[in-house]
Amino acid sequence: MSHPELKKRDKKKKRAEFHQKYSTFSRVRERIYKRDNYICAYCGVTVITPSYCRKLATKKQEEKFAEFEKGLITKKEYLSFNRYSNSNFHKMIKELKIDKSRIGTIDHKIPLSKGGTSEDDNLVTCCLRCNSKKGEKIIKGGKV
Ligand SMILES: [Zn+2]
Repeated sequence: MSHPELKKRDKKKKRAEFHQKYSTFSRVRERIYKRDNYICAYCGVTVITPSYCRKLATKKQEEKFAEFEKGLITKKEYLSFNRYSNSNFHKMIKELKIDKSRIGTIDHKIPLSKGGTSEDDNLVTCCLRCNSKKGEKIIKGGKV
């Protein structure tokens, strides 16, 4: 096999590995969020996830469409919202004016660097605010 072909195969393999890892990870995330009822383990806020955001965007889209039909907003305004709400998570967050500190993350109760594992019982739902405050600390119940 020639060199470029090998390179191509390597790239393909890497991409597949990445995809597998990532999709497994997002499945784990959803499982943990569901188990914790989408509530941050440290401050009790309900976290925002991409699937929640998409639902919210769909609802908003319907509202915007109704507004457009009533002539309250222009077609351009409706379409510009449509474009953003169909794009990525962070654009949606911005468009829906969601407080970024409420974005859901998964926290390792005992950090990996301190010997914690990625087993479900070491993972908790955590909002972005608590996660960035917590860092590498180990929390024993209660607040960050
Ligand atoms: Zn929190």
